[in-house]
Amino acid sequence: MVVHSAAELVLAGLDPEQRSAVTAPAGPVCILAGAGTGKTRAVTSRIAHRVLAGEISPRHVLAVTFTARAAAEMRARLTALGVAGVQARTFHAAALRQVRYFAPRLLDGRAMPELLDSKVRVVTLAAAKVGLRADRAAARDLAGEIEWAKSSLVEPGEYVVAAAKALRETPYEPAKVADVFTAYERLKRANGVIDFEDLLRAAVWGIEEHRDVAEQVRGQYRHFVVDEYQDVNPLQQRLLEAWLGGRDDLTVVGDASQTIYSFTGATSSYLVDFPRRYREATVVRLVRDYRSTPQVVGLANAVIGQARGTEAKLRLELHGQRPPGPEPELRIFTDEPAEATAVAARCRALVDAGTPAKEIAVLFRTNAQSEAYEKALTEAGVPYVVQGAERFFERTEVRQAMVALRAATRSIPGETPLPAAVVEGLAAVGWAPGAAPPGGAARERWEALAALVQLAEEYAATPPVLPIGEAAAVERPVTLSGFNEELARRAAQQHVPTVDGVTLASLHAAKGLEWDAVFLVGLSEGTLPTTYARTAEQVEEERRLLYVGITRARQWLWLSYASARSPGGRARRPCRFLPQLDRSGGGERAGGNAVARRAGAQRRPAQVASCRICGATLLAGQDRKLGRCPTCPSDLDEDLYERLRDWRARVAGAQRVPAYVVFTDATLTALAERRPGRTEELIAIAGIGPRKLGLYGEAVLALVGGAAVDDIAPQKTSEISS
Ligand code: ATP
Ligand code: MG
Repeated sequence: MVVHSAAELVLAGLDPEQRSAVTAPAGPVCILAGAGTGKTRAVTSRIAHRVLAGEISPRHVLAVTFTARAAAEMRARLTALGVAGVQARTFHAAALRQVRYFAPRLLDGRAMPELLDSKVRVVTLAAAKVGLRADRAAARDLAGEIEWAKSSLVEPGEYVVAAAKALRETPYEPAKVADVFTAYERLKRANGVIDFEDLLRAAVWGIEEHRDVAEQVRGQYRHFVVDEYQDVNPLQQRLLEAWLGGRDDLTVVGDASQTIYSFTGATSSYLVDFPRRYREATVVRLVRDYRSTPQVVGLANAVIGQARGTEAKLRLELHGQRPPGPEPELRIFTDEPAEATAVAARCRALVDAGTPAKEIAVLFRTNAQSEAYEKALTEAGVPYVVQGAERFFERTEVRQAMVALRAATRSIPGETPLPAAVVEGLAAVGWAPGAAPPGGAARERWEALAALVQLAEEYAATPPVLPIGEAAAVERPVTLSGFNEELARRAAQQHVPTVDGVTLASLHAAKGLEWDAVFLVGLSEGTLPTTYARTAEQVEEERRLLYVGITRARQWLWLSYASARSPGGRARRPCRFLPQLDRSGGGERAGGNAVARRAGAQRRPAQVASCRICGATLLAGQDRKLGRCPTCPSDLDEDLYERLRDWRARVAGAQRVPAYVVFTDATLTALAERRPGRTEELIAIAGIGPRKLGLYGEAVLALVGGAAVDDIAPQKTSEISS
């Protein structure tokens, strides 16, 4: 019997290129590869392999990425590989932890300044100080500029020049923005608050200016991994370098074609230049796409194949490894509510057919688009989670619940099982198990609190290990106060617990994640690309966003847009990045029509036909014959269909022609679904023109009326054939 070690088992799940990245000796490693090629898998496997082979200790690993959910994904994969105790965090969470830990020492015992959750309020005050009355939108744009500057290591005094160089589109004159920036920094200092960039700067400063801090941090973290490295900004890079302190045990992974945070100061140049900066680096390229069907991969390649600019230079064509699946669908709706309703109906159908809700995502360009889908999903009775919008632990009800749970430690007997104690504690905030109350907001509140109970259940099942650095690695006891501490810790990290629901997320928040079914909605010009994308680079970034969205899908991919915002509203055009999605193989040039309209080519009047089930515009000839989307539930009369088929066989036999010459299968299906009772209804069915009406109309109406095939006068049949 061959006995495999745990480390060998990690290698078993990898292809040769991934394996070479995983087994590369200590030192710089760079994985440059497209979406779904197993970069995250390779990087988590590298950590696991090194740990399980006894080469490194998990305590000394720091794995960083950019969103809380992606960090959670890394932790989950490491756990699945049998490795515990690795720190996998966002840059912010890692910095926050470090600064919190060292603050008492660096600030002579003073408390750490409060962390600003959003810049907008202070920016508004700063703008007023320099004579600008910025409304909320203007304040947000100003905050965006300040964020960009600080992430790019640009000081207020350097802003004007830097903004010009970077072709920033500034909300006010650059000099004025610089004034607001200066005033903002002053206001913050005066009020003893810091923002997220200050947090990263403080972490850098702590290490760069304090030898003891540097020694301790570098003693703790010896092996570094950065996922999604194409989205690192200069400030984060500086922190990474501070952590490294000249060492080179660093693995980076990324895909320049997925650079989607440039507007905030992120740049793929660190990724692209990595092999030059570390000449001895092991560089690995991956092209096999394990995530998506060849149909999805084909569309992804077509979209990114049109990309221009620096990021496009490193692009690799993906090769789908999965078995074939359904073609991506393009749907056009009259208005946004109709689009949302159809998406919700399809989600419902997928869930009913056995796809877990958490394996479905609806992705959009801006968070504001979420609301319509929240409403539609609620109405369809489909559970959902909003990703990245309001942070879970910032919700009022969650904060109130945490207070109630802390109070409950005094009243609830210690021996009460944890989940029961949490349920009891939540009674104080009016929560009761069972079904969610009606109403969007009430339901959301109930679900947020239910998520706490679920967290308690998970916590009770696997008591987490105390984080390293604070004390030795010991297991936490399963008590209500232990759980409360865990909640506080998670709140600090803004870690959102997953509840089982359809994910509603912006394309930005979806990076690195995957689902069985993905709905990309609102794909119209003005939304994607956003009207704010003006320069060629900005437009390219929007294209990459679509590429990121497409490559999230494992199996089903739906792309849609509404030709007007609200019923009867101003007409919109489809997203320019959509290639021709000709699914018909004949008949009308499906997606081609939509795309051609945009390109100004092949202007031919499109015959409008819509799905009678969901209302979507039908583009493919085949679908138009059916009168519904191929994937919408069919209300086919099976018995009628069988009789129509028998009848068709007889007619075709008598005429010595193939059956489809009489009627195609699609026409038979349409007949059996729509059951036309009158001549006018018959002629409305695609595939039945005046000639066929004359030939077969009477027979078909008789069959629909319930006649058996044998009852249709044989002479009628022979008359037809003559
Ligand atoms: P992205 O660019 O979107 O972040 P990625 O390159 O990080 O994608 P992963 O998320 O690591 O890709 O992998 C995509 C999917 O393919 C995952 O479900 C992963 O488990 C699976 N996968 C990766 N490598 C292999 C492999 N060698 N064999 C089978 N499945 C694999
Ligand atoms: Mg990944």
